[in-house]
Amino acid sequence: MNQHFDAIIVGGGMVGSALAAALGQGGYSVALVESGSEPGAIEDDAFDLRVSSLNLAAQRLLESVGAWAHIPAERRCIFRHIHAWDIHGHGETHFDAEALGLDDFGSFVENRVIRRALWRCLASLPGVEPICRTRPLALITGSERVLVELDNGRMLSGSLVVGADGARSEIRELAGIDVDALDYGQRALIINVVTQRPQQDVSWQRFTPEGPQAMLPLPGPHASLVWYGEPKATRDREALSDEALRQAIEREFPARLGGLKEVTGRASFPIRRQHARHYTAPRLALVGDAAHVIHPLAGQGLNLGLQDVTALADLLTAAHTPQHGDLGAPGPLRRYAWQRRPQTLAMIAATEVFHRVFTGNAMLRSAGAAGLAVAERLGPAKQFMMRRALGLQ
Ligand SMILES: Cc1cc2nc3c(=O)[nH]c(=O)nc-3n(C[C@H](O)[C@H](O)[C@H](O)COP(=O)(O)OP(=O)(O)OC[C@H]3O[C@@H](n4cnc5c(N)ncnc54)[C@H](O)[C@@H]3O)c2cc1C
Repeated sequence: MNQHFDAIIVGGGMVGSALAAALGQGGYSVALVESGSEPGAIEDDAFDLRVSSLNLAAQRLLESVGAWAHIPAERRCIFRHIHAWDIHGHGETHFDAEALGLDDFGSFVENRVIRRALWRCLASLPGVEPICRTRPLALITGSERVLVELDNGRMLSGSLVVGADGARSEIRELAGIDVDALDYGQRALIINVVTQRPQQDVSWQRFTPEGPQAMLPLPGPHASLVWYGEPKATRDREALSDEALRQAIEREFPARLGGLKEVTGRASFPIRRQHARHYTAPRLALVGDAAHVIHPLAGQGLNLGLQDVTALADLLTAAHTPQHGDLGAPGPLRRYAWQRRPQTLAMIAATEVFHRVFTGNAMLRSAGAAGLAVAERLGPAKQFMMRRALGLQ
C-alpha cells in the first residue's frame, strides 16, 4: 500500500520548503520531494552570489513558520531607502521607510541561508517527510487522490500535489500546463564586491539604455551588484579578471558606489519572463517560479512565490482540518488561482513597463524619466506602489 499524504510538494527550494513548513505546522502530512540534497550547514563566511530582497510580507511568513529565527543577524542586511533614477538625470525617485511609518523595507539575504533556515524548521515537524535526490516520473490523477511515481521506485499517494520545482517545473509539464514565455535578450551579471564605503542601508538602481545597474547592500562593507546588459557584452565582462572587472565597475557604475576594494565573485543569468497559463489543475497547484518567472529588476520573484505560499496555505487550512479534510478539493484551489494570477499579472506588467521604457528609444526613455519625476511628486501614488512592493497591499 502506498503511503498517503495530505500534500505532496515537489521542489524543496525556498518556496516549496516554506509551504511544507506552513502545512506541516498546521498538522497536515506532507511529502517534500527534492531532486537535490538537503541544504547543509553554511560554514564559510563568504557571501553567496544568489541573494534576494525579502519584503515585509515574506519576512512575516518566515517568522510565522519559525525560519526567521534561524537567519543570523550577521547574514542579513536591512534596507531603509530605495532610490531609482535614469542615467541622464532627468528623473529620480526615492522611497524612505520612515516616511511610510515603517522601520525598514525588508532585508537582503542569501538564498542558501533562507533555504537552510526553512529546512531547519522542517526537521522539527513530524508530519513532514523530506525525500531527497529523487524526482517525479509520472503523475496519475484520480477522483479521490493523486499518485506520484518517483524515479527511486517509490509511489506516493496524496490528496494534493504542488509543483514548487522552479522555472523548468516537471510537475507543470506532467500536468500538461503550458506557459507564455519571453526572452528579454538580456543577461544579468551578479557581482559580489567589497566597497570602500561602510555598511549601507540603501538599495539603488540606475536605468541605462543597456539595462539597469543596481546595488543591493549586504552586511558590513559588502554588496551585490547587478549589471544588466546585452548577452555578448555581459559574457565579455564576466570573463574579465577580478581587477579588470573592478576597474570596469568603477568606470561604468554611478559615482555614488564609491571605490571598490575587491570583486569576490560573479555569475550571469539569462533574463526571461514566463507565466503558467493555469495555476491549478485537478488536485494540483503551482507555486513560485513553477507558476511565474518575472524580470528580476524589481527584486520580487521570490516575494511573489512566498505570497503564493501564504495564500495557498491560508485557503487550504481555512477549508480543511488535518483529520477531516481533502486538501485537493477544487474550491480552495480555484480561489487560489483567482487571488494569485491577477497579482502576478500586475507585477509582470509593472516590470515590463520599466524594462520597455528604459531600454526603448530616446522618446520612451525620456517619458520614463518624466514618470520617475512625477512618481517622486505624487505622494499617495508613491505610497501605494511601495505598499504593493512590500506585499502589504
Ligand atoms: C538574477 C536574479 C536576481 C533575483 N533577485 C531577486 C530578489 O532580489 N528578490 C526576489 O524576491 N526574487 C529574486 N529573484 C527571483 C528568485 O530567485 C526566484 O523567484 C526564486 O528563487 C524562486 O524560488 P522557487 O523555490 O520557486 O524555485 P527554485 O529556487 O528554482 O527552487 C526549485 C527547487 O526544486 C528543485 N527541483 C527542480 N526540479 C525538480 C524535480 N523535477 N523534482 C524535484 N525537485 C526539483 C530544485 O532542486 C530546487 O530546490 C531573482 C532571480 C534572478 C535570476
